[in-house]
Amino acid sequence: MIPFVDLRTQYLSIKDEIDHAVLKVLDSTQFVLGQEVKAFEEEFAAYCNSDYALAVNTGTSALHLALLAAGIGPGDEVITVPFTFVATVAAICYAGATPVFVDIDPVSYTIDVTKIEQAITSKTKAILPVHLYGQPADMEPIMEIARRYGLTVIEDAAQAHRAEYKGQRIGSIGDIGCFSFYPGKNLGAYGEGGAVVTSNPEYARTIKMLRDWGQEERYHHVLKGYNYRMDGIQGAILRVKLRYLDQWTEARRTHAAHYDQLLADSGVKTPTVMPYSHHVYHVYAVRTKQREMLQARLNEQGIQTGIHYPIPVHLQPAYADLGYKLGDFPNSELVANEVLSLPMYAELTTEQVNTVAKTLKNILQGAKVE
Ligand SMILES: *Cc1c(COP(=O)(O)O)cnc(C)c1O
Repeated sequence: MIPFVDLRTQYLSIKDEIDHAVLKVLDSTQFVLGQEVKAFEEEFAAYCNSDYALAVNTGTSALHLALLAAGIGPGDEVITVPFTFVATVAAICYAGATPVFVDIDPVSYTIDVTKIEQAITSKTKAILPVHLYGQPADMEPIMEIARRYGLTVIEDAAQAHRAEYKGQRIGSIGDIGCFSFYPGKNLGAYGEGGAVVTSNPEYARTIKMLRDWGQEERYHHVLKGYNYRMDGIQGAILRVKLRYLDQWTEARRTHAAHYDQLLADSGVKTPTVMPYSHHVYHVYAVRTKQREMLQARLNEQGIQTGIHYPIPVHLQPAYADLGYKLGDFPNSELVANEVLSLPMYAELTTEQVNTVAKTLKNILQGAKVE
């Protein structure tokens, strides 16, 4: 069996360091925030080329606090894409603002920058691009539009740790960057986790207060805050894992290049890496009109796959109140119907990549003959 993700092999490869780091936290009893989280924040800020990183309990909380720090609330509109994980949109609603969707580009699967300006109204306060699958959104035109209209740019970097746009680390290109450390992400904790990065000291100060009950000092509540703090154990684990992120990212990129080559004439469309991007392949998604058949047949042969994501957010019942309908975002709808994510994680072996590609090709060739 080839699993879609394999967290165990990675844990075993660094078990001694992780176990030691966790025991140290247990011994210190700094279970919430504390020295390890503080050290992780410093290391992660430097890694992202940002002045500040604030560790929180989830990527969703990171997005929520980024929006609040930018002063976004009821009556405001935030531009984002419908082809994303639901958390991007949920966070905008948590802040009391209204998500306004712009379709994706059908090649990069990130926001279509040529359609942003027509979505801007007098209520627009921010643009929230998503670096989907680990490929950066086209940040230069996004920043140019944002500056021209006085909008804040908040990057959803939950799938794109270490990705680069024109040589610059994502997360530090916009005004605020938001990361998730959910276990399956490229940098994953052993539980929930997230972080906000920014080089704006005011945003950093606000987010630091908001994640811990709005306190400036203990029991002095300056803002109406939240309990969005990171666990000490997660901070310690993330410090260990951050040291391997370059190496693990390179492994993902090698597997992706290998898939690209093996699947070049297979009948599926392989991912397109945009000229501006250093793609980190959180997800390696191929496209085919025969997705359901291919997924079922791969599964029968012991190869697990995923679909990220089968239903764009504008067609989800929970967000029906936004008033969108089928046909509003044709590229998102088309891509959602055709993408299939193949096994992708640093510890995949060359042999496993070969097996996945060979099995996929056999299935599609067989289907053509039938
Ligand atoms: C995972 C993810 C989030 C949310 O992160 P959590 O840590 O699960 O709350 C937000 N946006 C995108 C694009 C994601 O993939």
